[in-house]
Amino acid sequence: MTWSTPPGSGPLADAHAQLSAAVAHLGYTDGIHQMLATPRREMLVSVPLRRDDGSIAVYSGFRVQHNFSRGPAKGGLRYSTAVDLDEVRALAMWMTWKCALVDVPYGGAKGGVAIDPRAHSHAELERVTRRYTSEILPIIGPEMDIPAPDFGTSEREMAWIMDTYSASVGHTVPGCVTGKPVSLGGSYGRAGATSRGVAHIAALAMASRGIDPKAASAAIQGFGKVGLGAARYLAGMGVTIRAVSDVDGAVFAHEGLDIARLVAHVERTGSVVGFDGGDPFEPRGVLTCDVDVVVPAAVEGVLTADNAGDVRASIVVEGANGPTTEAADAILAQSGVLVVPDILANAGGVVVSYFEWAQANQAYQWSERDVNDRLEERMERAWRDVSEYAAVHELSLRAAATALAVRRVSEAHQLRGLYP
Ligand code: GLU
Repeated sequence: MTWSTPPGSGPLADAHAQLSAAVAHLGYTDGIHQMLATPRREMLVSVPLRRDDGSIAVYSGFRVQHNFSRGPAKGGLRYSTAVDLDEVRALAMWMTWKCALVDVPYGGAKGGVAIDPRAHSHAELERVTRRYTSEILPIIGPEMDIPAPDFGTSEREMAWIMDTYSASVGHTVPGCVTGKPVSLGGSYGRAGATSRGVAHIAALAMASRGIDPKAASAAIQGFGKVGLGAARYLAGMGVTIRAVSDVDGAVFAHEGLDIARLVAHVERTGSVVGFDGGDPFEPRGVLTCDVDVVVPAAVEGVLTADNAGDVRASIVVEGANGPTTEAADAILAQSGVLVVPDILANAGGVVVSYFEWAQANQAYQWSERDVNDRLEERMERAWRDVSEYAAVHELSLRAAATALAVRRVSEAHQLRGLYP
């Protein structure tokens, strides 16, 4: 009987459609397809919180470990009210392909708690994080599954996870989590790694299209860990950043936003809204404004059948995971837009997570320069692998990246064999 992927729409359907295309291209059997499509382990937990006012709230928590063929599972922890099991499943699958693509020795995982971090105090978030950690403790660890920051979490949560894990086993285990503060065994260069990688890949994409960064313009959706850093690095290369949005609004300046001043404004006020170096702008318009490069760096599913036809940029660099739906991908390809897929564009974070884990295992800290040089080398290698594969097989960058990654995971699986 032919196995079929689950129906529906949303990130999980997009992830399955991408896998199905790769499996068809590689000519794999239904059995292998099913192995690659099915998460190895899923954990659903409830996370009770004693709020500061004494009342109790209960949140849903998830950890999905999609694949272990190439090593321990690896992936971030997300805090957002949009988190649900299917979203975490999709994100975990993308982590498997991402780790394989940049050749770090991991499988893929993702975690989430369906909570709005902005609606909670520091103390409440600490209790939620520690309780969630203790609930998933049996399935995480430096050789099993290593969480990291994602949307809504940061090095602060990673410190709490490390402390909770370490307290439970009775000694400090720096390798149980990555994206920690540098003073707790985190890596130099980890905080800016995703955005540094995004900017580096954007530069390679521009070069492939003959675009000079100094004459180029860009728009960035999302001004968090990924978007803010990408804006900084791109501006540093001479790119004119015309528009930037966050959850509260957007700003636009045709002649370019002064990113250093915008960052200072965001640090002061918490949002890009009200910045006096640009005009207020319709946030949705950021993806379709008149620039060379668009960087969706917020959440999944923002480039859809409704707006993909209006994209005026010639390059889309996916800073977020899954920002382009399957339907939008087809439209963008039709219009000749070069879409650099998430598993390549934003892989810098997990690359330096790997360096952090390696440093923890060695108990030796590398210099920031070492980290950044090695990051650039890996990103360039992945870009070359994907571009060459795409050219040889006449595939989009996404189809090429997914096929390459799926092939590596499947090879590892076949070499290990099926037990018993
Ligand atoms: N959350 C990041 C991602 O989606 C980083 C994951 C990690 O470092 O493990 O790639």
